[in-house]
Amino acid sequence: MAKRFEVEEFGVLADGSPVKMFTVGDGGIVARFSDYGARLLGVMTADGTEVVLGYETLAEYAADRTYSGAVVGRFGNRIAGGKFTLDGKSYQVPQNNGENALHGGPVGFDQKVWAAEATGDGVEFTLVSPAGDQGFPGMLTVTVRYAVSEDSLRVDYSATTDATTVVNLTNHAYFNLAGTSSQTILDHEIMLTAERYTPTDAALIPTGELAVVEGTPFDFKTATRIGARIEDENVQLERAGGYDHNFVMGSEGEMKLAAKLTDPGSRRWMTVETTEPGIQFYSGNFMDAARTCGKYARRGGLCLETQHYPDSPNHADFPSTVVRVGETLRSTTVFRFGLE
Ligand code: BGC
Repeated sequence: MAKRFEVEEFGVLADGSPVKMFTVGDGGIVARFSDYGARLLGVMTADGTEVVLGYETLAEYAADRTYSGAVVGRFGNRIAGGKFTLDGKSYQVPQNNGENALHGGPVGFDQKVWAAEATGDGVEFTLVSPAGDQGFPGMLTVTVRYAVSEDSLRVDYSATTDATTVVNLTNHAYFNLAGTSSQTILDHEIMLTAERYTPTDAALIPTGELAVVEGTPFDFKTATRIGARIEDENVQLERAGGYDHNFVMGSEGEMKLAAKLTDPGSRRWMTVETTEPGIQFYSGNFMDAARTCGKYARRGGLCLETQHYPDSPNHADFPSTVVRVGETLRSTTVFRFGLE
């Protein structure tokens, strides 16, 4: 059992659903979660610094338009035109990001109240998404299990379906290792192991190319300050207003290091290891006061979303996001925190 485990009422949503907050610590980091969107509300590092952006109240989480801390699904990231074909059948899911579908649709998993169960070292959240939910086929049963150790937060995802469907699950927490009141993440250094990334069109849909990062502002194989090249004249950066790209690790199923983030000021660091084949490095370009209840500014935090590549259902050569009856989708991501 974790050294610290608390459950509190966090509030009540507009539809009357009660929501809880869980606080879990094991002598080092202290993490907070909620059943509203299976969210990660916070990670307090061992030196007492909150490094995950969030809010004081449930009402703010409900009003937030940045998926703060949430598990996004059923299909995280974009699907071009909200259209795809599965086993010869065409589907149209809601277009909630211009022409495209983003993060599972207008009422995605981030807005659901999940069932919650204490596991000893954390919390396991379960959601049953009915067939047809946000246009997706198949009843999907999803679990997200958060486990807290002294220095790490482990996230295990699993999903099963009763009809063929597509699934892409990730966590959308925003990190700022200098602390949540720090203005931007531009001074953070980031290392991304990826040799390639998926360039996008103007609507942030992958073109299909797996471009080499070498010689571009996307080469983070050695740790580089995020702000160093973010304003370079580069059509990829211009389209996204900064970094908002899927970095390709390729191999699927085995744990590997994807990213290391460091705040040079405090020497606080975080690593991200994952079984996923990709990671979306989003430098918070679309964040603003209006989307964050007046609390955060553009690039006030960054997301490292371990995932399958965006728009996979429309790219036969990308690692598959199709889940069939009898299969269990499994994926794991570990965030580790330390001080140099
Ligand atoms: C996407 C951004 C999007 C943001 C919404 C990120 O995962 O990559 O393009 O604006 O989510 O908060």
